[in-house]
Amino acid sequence: MAEEGQKRRIAIFGSTGSIGTQALEVIRAHKNVLEAEILTAQTNADLLIKQALEFLPNAVVIGDETKYEQVKDALSATSIKVFAGENALEEVADFDTYEVMLTAIVGFAGLKSTLKGVKKGKVIALSNKETLVVAGDIVMQQAFENRSPIIPVDSEHSAIFQCLIGEARNPIEKIILTASGGPFLGKKPNFLVNVKRDHALQHPNWSMGAKISIDSATLMNKGLEMIEAKWLFNLKPEQIEVVVHPQSIVHSLVQFEDGSLKAQMGLPDMKLPIQYALGFPERMKNDFPRFNFKKYPSLTFEEPDYKTFRNLGLAIDALKAGGNKACVLNAANEIAVWAFLKNRIGFLDITAVVEKTMDKISFIENPTLEEYYESDGEARNFAASVMKM
Ligand code: NAD
Ligand code: MG
Repeated sequence: MAEEGQKRRIAIFGSTGSIGTQALEVIRAHKNVLEAEILTAQTNADLLIKQALEFLPNAVVIGDETKYEQVKDALSATSIKVFAGENALEEVADFDTYEVMLTAIVGFAGLKSTLKGVKKGKVIALSNKETLVVAGDIVMQQAFENRSPIIPVDSEHSAIFQCLIGEARNPIEKIILTASGGPFLGKKPNFLVNVKRDHALQHPNWSMGAKISIDSATLMNKGLEMIEAKWLFNLKPEQIEVVVHPQSIVHSLVQFEDGSLKAQMGLPDMKLPIQYALGFPERMKNDFPRFNFKKYPSLTFEEPDYKTFRNLGLAIDALKAGGNKACVLNAANEIAVWAFLKNRIGFLDITAVVEKTMDKISFIENPTLEEYYESDGEARNFAASVMKM
């Protein structure tokens, strides 16, 4: 934590989303030690303005340039710097004035600014898992070279990170990522074929942004998390397992070489892993609701249904293949999920689009960053063309 009297300055990339707004709740609850230095939003200018007037950051970015005047006017009585457009994200990421970057932008769009933060040697509170799915080797290498600590925010990875404290000399035998199973746990393809957007958006345990909610319903989210875990904890594919745990209380587990398992538990509330990452290595006292065993008489665990939720198998293929496979999987999935959210394709079509795109795009074993961008673009174009057929 920062010195007495000095607050830790946080840059929230994606402050208007589900993670971003919860991060601001955490900052509000710990005003004496945390403050918002940079806030960014893509389109929601009204909420960005409201946040800026409350938290008085040094700078804000509105991605949608048509909203620049609106934000500028609304903040004219303050000294807050206002930027607009995609390139502004990298510009503010280059500031010296913040200590921790919370990456809460959704999707591939979060990669460039995260890389800039890493190059600056900032502490990265990593929520944007797609960054590691797309270019995990480059991001982790850059983080190593620039001494940029990466603290996971994703609840499963935060759990594993917490289980590893004090275990630096003890190799991991394997990790077990828990999955809630999403809103369609136990359902079969004959049901899923007719599933609509609004139903898929209703997650039983977590309230999240639209994209990750759909990914949770298709189990792609768990596949992306397996790839995220590979990079964060330097694991081989066979060291990463998934178990379905519908109550979302055990957030994940680590098994060591003596067979001992460590788990981290708590209520499903993202404010906890967000707070842990922002305050690391300290655990900051709070009054968030506590877990009560009496309300959870049984915690259950079961195998995922790989046959029905085929996205998980596709992500495992990408995990094993390495190279640009996961980048391609991610790009196709972003396009397909977006189309599903617009009611343009069905729920099961998401998997079909991802699978076709993975088969089509040429494999590159050791891509450069430029090649990752190219693979992403090619995969997006191909996925879009598949959906037009
Ligand atoms: P969200 O859709 O609620 O919010 C996304 C944020 O990113 C918004 O502030 C939006 O303005 C901004 N944004 C969107 N597109 C952008 C673009 N093209 N350029 C710049 N900014 C853009 O998403 P979320 O649920 O908060 O998820 C954010 C990230 O955190 C995702 O990568 C997700 O996988 C990860 N994550 C989320 C949760 C959760 O509970 N919501 C849990 C674990 C991990
Ligand atoms: Mg997660």
